Amino acid sequence: MVKEYDFYGAVGDQVQRAAESSQLDPEVALILSQPKNELIVHFPVRMDDGTYRLFKGYRIQHNNVLGPYKGGIRFHPGVTLDDCKALAALMTWKCSLMRLPFGGGKGGVKFDPRAVSKDELCRVTRRFTHALGNNIGPDYDIPAPDMGTNAQTMAWMMDTYMNSVGPGEKQSVTGVVTGKSPECGGSEGREKATGQGVVHCITEWARDNDVDLEGSTFLIQGFGNVGSNAAVILARLGASMVGVMDHSGAIVSPEGLNPHRLSEWVREHGAIAGYPGGRVASREEFFSAQADLIIPAALENQIGPEEAGMLKVKVVVEAANGPTNPQGEFVLAERGIEIVPDILANAGGVTVSYFEWVQNKRSEHWELSEVDIALERRMRAVYRDVARTAQESECSMREAAYLLALRRVQTAYRQRGIFP
Ligand code: NAD
Repeated sequence: MVKEYDFYGAVGDQVQRAAESSQLDPEVALILSQPKNELIVHFPVRMDDGTYRLFKGYRIQHNNVLGPYKGGIRFHPGVTLDDCKALAALMTWKCSLMRLPFGGGKGGVKFDPRAVSKDELCRVTRRFTHALGNNIGPDYDIPAPDMGTNAQTMAWMMDTYMNSVGPGEKQSVTGVVTGKSPECGGSEGREKATGQGVVHCITEWARDNDVDLEGSTFLIQGFGNVGSNAAVILARLGASMVGVMDHSGAIVSPEGLNPHRLSEWVREHGAIAGYPGGRVASREEFFSAQADLIIPAALENQIGPEEAGMLKVKVVVEAANGPTNPQGEFVLAERGIEIVPDILANAGGVTVSYFEWVQNKRSEHWELSEVDIALERRMRAVYRDVARTAQESECSMREAAYLLALRRVQTAYRQRGIFP
C-alpha cells in the first residue's frame, strides 16, 4: 500500500486522461483543476467531562456550474483537506454523469465518531453546522451522509440550520441536507440507495458478461451503510458473500455468510469482529479469496498493486469513493479485471438525495415503490450510456464515465461563457 497517498492527485490524473481524449477546452480544464471554495473551520466543543476540545472541519465546494454544491460529510480521524478536495471533485463528475442538477462538494470533521458519546457527537455536529453558517443552504450547498455520518447526523444538521433562520422560513429549508429519516423530511429508500445502486450496476454488468448472479460469490470490504445494504440486496439475487472485511478485521467462508445476521451483529457490536460464523482471515487471505466480484465499500486507496495482484475476481465494483489507486488500476487492467467506477457504481445515494431534495421543494412524499423505480431507471440508463461509450471509444468504463461527465460540464461552460 502507498503510505502517503495523494488522493487528490490521483483523481486529477484520471480527469486529465479523460480531458485529453475528450479535447476539453483548456480554460475549462483550468477552472476544474481546483475547487471554487475551500473552507476550514475550527470550533470548540464541550466534552462530557467538562473539558473543551477544538475540532477541525472542512467544506470544499468544487464546482457549481450545473447546480448547487452537493456532497457528503465525513466524520473520520483521517479526514484531510486534500481528501475532501478529491471527494468534492468526484461529486462534480458523479452529478454530471447522473444528469442531476447539482455540482460537487464534500466536507468532514477530523475525529473518530466511535470514540465519543452520543451527546458529544450531537454537539460536534451542531457546532460544525453552526461554523459552516451560510456557506451551506438548500439552494447553495447541500450536505448528505458519508463515512461516519448517518440520518441522525443529518437531522441534527437540519435542525441546527433551521434554528438559524426566521420562523417563517423554517419549512422552506428542510432541503439544506439530504439523507434524513422520512420522519424528518427524508426520502423513502435513501438509506439503502447507494447499496441498491451498486446492485443495479452489478446486474447490468452480469448481463453484459453472461454471468448468472444466482450462485455467484462476492467479497465486500466495509460493512457500514453502503456495504451492508449492497450485501443484503445482492444476497436476495442468489449471490453468496464469501468474505467480508471492516476496520476490525476480516472473515471468510466459502460456504457463505448471512448478510442479514451480520448486519444485526454490526448494529449491536459496532464491527464484524467476534461474529460467530466463518473464519477470521488476514488482509491477504481476504483479497486472495476465490470470488466472482469484489465490492470495496470502505475507504479510498484500498486496492493497490499488491491487492490487485492477489484478486481472483472478474470485476471490482467501486462502492467506495476512490478505492482503487492508479498503480492498482494498472495491474487490474493488465490482468483483465474490469472496474465499474465509483462515480457510476455508488451514484445511487446522490440520485435518491436529489429525489429527496425535489420532495422537500414540492412538500411531497413519494412512496418507496416510486423511489425504487425512478432510481432503477436512472442507474440502468446511465450504466448503458457508460458501457456504450466505453465500447465506442475503446476505453475503460472509468474513462467513458469521465468522458460523459466532462462533456456536460464543458457544454454548460461553452454556452454560459466565463464571467465577465
Ligand atoms: P460507514 O461509516 O457507514 O461505513 C464504513 C465502513 O468501512 C465500516 O464498516 C468500517 O468498519 C469500514 N472501514 C473503515 N476503515 C476501514 C479500514 N481501514 N479497512 C476496512 N474497512 C474499514 O460509511 P458508508 O456511508 O457506508 O461509506 C462507505 C464508502 O462509500 C465511502 O467511501 C463513502 O465515501 C462511499 N459512499 C457513501 C455513500 C452514502 O450514501 N453513505 C454514497 C456514495 C459513496
